[in-house]
This record gives sequence, structure tokens and C-alpha cells, in this order.
Amino acid sequence: MRHFAVIGSGPAGFYTAEALAKAYGDAARIDIIEKFPVPYGLIRFGVAPDHQSLKAVSRRYDKVAEDANVRFVGNVAVGDAVSIAELQSLYDAVILATGAPDDRKLGIEGELLPGVVGSAEFVGWYNGHPCFADLSPPLDGKYAAVIGNGNVALDCARILSKNHHEFEGSDIVGHALEALDRSAVRTITIVGRRGPHQISMTPKELGELGHLEAATPVVEGDDFPPVEADDALEPGHRKSINILRDFAATGPDGSKARRIVFDFFARPVRIEGNGRAERLIVERTELDESGSARGTGETYEVPASLIVTSIGYHTPPIAGVPYDERGGKFANDGGVIGDGLYCVGWARRGPSGTIGTNRPDGQEVAELIAAALPPGGSSAKAGGVGLDALLAERGIRATSFDDWRSIESAETAAARPGSPREKLIRHADWLKVLGRS
Ligand code: NAP
Repeated sequence: MRHFAVIGSGPAGFYTAEALAKAYGDAARIDIIEKFPVPYGLIRFGVAPDHQSLKAVSRRYDKVAEDANVRFVGNVAVGDAVSIAELQSLYDAVILATGAPDDRKLGIEGELLPGVVGSAEFVGWYNGHPCFADLSPPLDGKYAAVIGNGNVALDCARILSKNHHEFEGSDIVGHALEALDRSAVRTITIVGRRGPHQISMTPKELGELGHLEAATPVVEGDDFPPVEADDALEPGHRKSINILRDFAATGPDGSKARRIVFDFFARPVRIEGNGRAERLIVERTELDESGSARGTGETYEVPASLIVTSIGYHTPPIAGVPYDERGGKFANDGGVIGDGLYCVGWARRGPSGTIGTNRPDGQEVAELIAAALPPGGSSAKAGGVGLDALLAERGIRATSFDDWRSIESAETAAARPGSPREKLIRHADWLKVLGRS
């Protein structure tokens, strides 16, 4: 028998567990260890609440968790409740699937002013992440800005733009919906330091901006290179640029109360305000020979009392695990960190790619493990039994997948009409459902 510990229950963790379960069958036991009492990581706390079709992938993960050789072990924070060294002494291989939940910083003056929030915080706030439930982003001003030209920036801008009933069918948490209902925000500026050709936005997500009930996209035709330049683009990317060109050609719909303004070639320089963010100062840029943004020296201000920085994420380091500071992820070679220690997903590659990208990633690492520890072999490691003993010694009560089912039922029962669930947010609320408060 082999024993594996996968740390983190987001997409990368589940795909890796799935691949290991397939490779080893009954010859291995796999524990998916999660710091929260509830599973799914990015699916629960990151994917936009109005993108339920993406969240439905968790049904596939349920099948993995229901495999007799796989166990969900929630409420156990690795690096705190139990160390990596302890896990390595208990399991044949430890696979870090801890994602990249922390915001990268802009590193400009004024970034710490109230009103400036990272996208992980903002997304966590509307998605019921316990650390950000009290964020209370200021929505009392007319202007907001989102910095970054990726899909997360689009998510943030879209959520800020929607009317109450456009959230029907979503699982946005009640506190965020109420706050957004009262929002005074009318203009959301999406600030990109480069141009339309350099966006990292995908067609479906960009196209949604053209179908919002109360908001209209505003794009300047002058920002684009000649249309012939689009020929060199990869087809999916060209589709995104076409959508932007259409927005520019059609012009904003003046009947809509909110505007989503694309401000390209604008590099954030500093944030100003009297005790809170009031404006973002940007420098006009142009592309240099390598395609990077080069400042022109011309600056101007973008009014914004809420500024969401959406410029990427990093993986939090774990004591004793080699870390790549520059990449913001674990130092690894194709998923291998060291003897018996691996990483997958964003903790391996950095924060890029879709949910599905994590599947081949997990499979690849499972194959590496199977090559190093051929199925059929056995070890003297204590595995899950040893972990349970350690946790019992420390008075830590883990949650099981059945416990999650109970929490999920409570969330479904509490759902407002038209919503699949009302998420429980606090640790105490999760444990209360389990009769452990
Ligand atoms: P991203 O796609 O890497 O975009 C980050 C953006 O931040 C880029 O436009 C980048 O500009 C900009 N940026 C970085 N540093 C900056 C700085 N100092 N100043 C100004 N701008 C800066 O990251 P993301 O939006 O966080 O998305 C992460 C991953 O999740 C992506 O693969 C994304 O596609 C995926 N995702 C998918 C969906 C979906 O499929 N619905 C939804 C959300 C996220 P430069 O290009 O100039 O560096």
C-alpha cells in the first residue's frame, strides 16, 4: 500500500487525486488535506458567482472524493496544524496544490489607502471567503477602477456593473448582493498598461460585457493598431480583439446607467486621496520594440474611490519548502520540489490558465509519482491513520466529505429564491452545522 497526501482541495488538488486514484486503484490511499472545513478552493472562492456552469465542475470532484481510496480531510491547515516534515514522515509523497490565493502588489505610492483592494480580497468578499467577509469595499462613490487586463479584471468589473436580478441563479453571498444593490458606482475604468492586442481576456468573458442590462462598454477606436495587424494573432485572441473592435465601432449605449471604460496604455503611477483613495494617477504608455509598456512622461488622473488591483497572484510560502520569489510559486522542476515532495496547479506554474489546465498538470505529476513509486509496491508509512493520530493528539477535529455534505445541505436550505445556495462563511457557522460549536 502507498499513501499520498494532496494539500489543497481546489481543481489542481482534485485532478491530481483523481489521476493518482486511477493509477494506483486499491494499491494507494489518498488524503486531500484542506485548511477550510469545506472543499473546492478556487471553485468556491474564486470563480465568479454568476459563472455557475464553471462551478459545476465540482460535481466531477465529488466523484473523486467518493472513491473508497480517497479521503477529504478538511479543517487541517498544513504549516500550522501539521508541518510538511510531519506529512513527509507519514506519506510516500506529498503534493502541494495550494493555489495562488494572495494578491500581487503594484508597489506604488498610495496602495495602502482605504479603498484600494486586491482582486483576491474583492472576489473573496463577494464569494464568501471567510478572510474577506468584512472587507466592505467602498461603493459610495461614482467612480471605480480595476487595474489589469485579465479575466479576473473582467469578473470584477462585471460584478460591479450588474443589477440585482442579473444575479439570479448565481451564488453571490447575501452581504455582497445587498451592498451592490446600494452601490453608487456608475463608471468602472479598466486600466491596462498596454494595448488591446496585449489583453489577457478571453472572448466569452469579454462578450458578456455587451449583454449587461445596465452597463455599456466604452472602447476608443484610436487605441487599436491597423486591422491588418490582427491577422498575426492566434484565433481565440483575434476573437477577443474583434469583440473590442465591435464595442468601439458601436459606441456606448447612452440609455444604460453604468459605463465600463477601457483605458489602455495607462500605467499606474500612484494613488492619491485625503485619507482614502480618490484618484489613480497613470502615465500614458506606448509599446517598445519588445512589446513592453514604455512611459511617455504624460500623466493624467482616473477618478476612483474604489480601486481593485487585478494584476495576478502568488502562492504563500510554506516553512521548509523551497520558494521561487520571482515566480511567486514553489521552486520546482516540472512539478518536483524534492524527494517525495511535488507541486501542481498554480503553486507549480504560477497563476495562469483555465480550470481545465490543471487536469493534465495533475496527471503529469501523478505519472512522475507512479514512475518513482510503481503501483504494487508498499511502504512502512502510516498514512492517514498516522495523520488521524497526530490530529487527535493536538485536539484538531478534521471534517470529512460527509461533513461537507451536511454543510452543503444547510447552504442549499438557506438559499434565497433563484439561488442554488446561501454560502455559510464563518468557521464557526460551518462547525455549528456539524454540532461542534
Ligand atoms: P492575468 O491573465 O495574468 O492578467 C493580469 C493582468 O495584470 C495583465 O493584463 C497584466 O498586464 C496586468 N499587470 C500585471 N502587473 C501589472 C502592473 N504592475 N501594472 C499594471 N498592470 C499589471 O491574471 P488574472 O486576470 O488574475 O487571471 C489569472 C488566470 O485565471 C488567467 O489564466 C485567467 O484567464 C484565469 N481566469 C479565467 C476566467 C474564466 O475563464 N472565466 C476567469 C478568471 C480568471 P501585462 O500583460 O502588461 O503584464
